[in-house]
Amino acid sequence: MIELYHNKEDCCGCGACVSICPQNAISMQEDENGFIYPFLSETLCIGCRLCKEVCAYQNQLSLNTPKEAYVAASKNDKNIVESASGGIFAEAATYIIKNDGIVFGVAFVKENSRLIPQHIGVSRLEDLKLLQGSKYVQSDMRNSMNQAKKYLDNGRHVLFSGTPCQVAGLKGFLKKDYENLITMDIICHGVPSSQMFNDFLQLNYNKKNYDVVDFKFRDKSSGWGEMARLDYFDRKNKLKHRLIPAHTSSYFHFFLKTQICRENCYSCKYACEKRTGDITIGDYWGIGQEHPELLSNSVYSEMKGISCVMISTSRGEVFFRSLNSQIYADLSKFEKISKHNEQLREPSKKGKDYQEIFRLYPRYGYQAVEKYYKRKYFINIILHVIYNKIPLPMRKKIKKLLR
Ligand SMILES: Cc1cc2nc3c(=O)[nH]c(=O)nc-3n(C[C@H](O)[C@H](O)[C@H](O)COP(=O)(O)OP(=O)(O)OC[C@H]3O[C@@H](n4cnc5c(N)ncnc54)[C@H](O)[C@@H]3O)c2cc1C
Repeated sequence: MIELYHNKEDCCGCGACVSICPQNAISMQEDENGFIYPFLSETLCIGCRLCKEVCAYQNQLSLNTPKEAYVAASKNDKNIVESASGGIFAEAATYIIKNDGIVFGVAFVKENSRLIPQHIGVSRLEDLKLLQGSKYVQSDMRNSMNQAKKYLDNGRHVLFSGTPCQVAGLKGFLKKDYENLITMDIICHGVPSSQMFNDFLQLNYNKKNYDVVDFKFRDKSSGWGEMARLDYFDRKNKLKHRLIPAHTSSYFHFFLKTQICRENCYSCKYACEKRTGDITIGDYWGIGQEHPELLSNSVYSEMKGISCVMISTSRGEVFFRSLNSQIYADLSKFEKISKHNEQLREPSKKGKDYQEIFRLYPRYGYQAVEKYYKRKYFINIILHVIYNKIPLPMRKKIKKLLR
């Protein structure tokens, strides 16, 4: 019997093993915390070991050191507003689609009244918005690796974006390099489970008879920061929005503090300088300290969002240059970016909250996590509620003072 993984640290749930299996003998199943792991059916398995061969989490993938680093942002304000950072992904995707290619990324898909983050392929510009914006939940890759391979074999251009381990998973699955493939990994500090996210929504919103249709983790209507937005139909079937400051929400707070991630995220071998993708994108935190000169030229705005971009391969270099007319880009340095982004140096760390959350959640459900959060962070929640009631210009001044 093949052992797909020995410890939970050995599996990132990318699904390369599921995708390669010629017998459909592997399926993804949720553990007690809702994290997906591959399960092998003994009766269907023929022992070909392809699943072990393609695993890019247990086999070492060759990684690339970034050659260039940039501050960057889309020239299209609409794209920036819909994106978590500076909208670089949307510009790359637009270029690929305009050149008859396919873009794979993460969308929320509604299944049995739950919002499930899934990798999907998009070939029409009007569908691009489905992939825009960070979904701070582990996405299910479903059939996307097989679909991407089909397009690649047919000579179509493919842009594949995801966490570094998902990009590695795709590369392991493909087993060869395709010239028509561009991979974009995001800087990632870890992924919580889709089950926990949905339990959080269910407890706080669905229970009130809200029909939740979308959750934007980075709403920018009051600036680039930590504000989420819930879109839902109320009891009278009216579409409504609700803004949720990150640190007043248990799920978002614990995500930002990296306390609800998947087991392997805490020893992630891809949380380092070397990258799995041709291009890496993330938030340019600390831009005011690293490039104050760029903030005064009004091209980049901390209110709208600014990206950091790292280019690790020649293919990535050529592709990034082809976005010239769509984006602003200024040279930076890896050291400047990584100073403010720990995930480029080491994996996230578990704290006391992690231990308590995963003691409570499988036994008593998300209700117990919510209670724990409200009790422990009561003052913090009040302060954030008050802070978010202060008019925006004043909040900006306070932020500057606190820097
Ligand atoms: C779980 C997670 C953790 C992150 N942690 C950090 C961090 O610590 N530091 C940092 O600088 N940036 C982090 N980011 C990245 C950041 O939030 C932006 O996604 C990134 O900067 C791209 O921004 P954009 O404006 O170019 O595009 P956007 O439109 O905001 O991003 C869309 C891109 O993100 C991908 N994506 C969205 N959700 C997921 C998901 N669940 N799994 C895989 N891919 C997804 C889409 O496929 C698409 O490629 C994280 C993102 C995620 C999803």
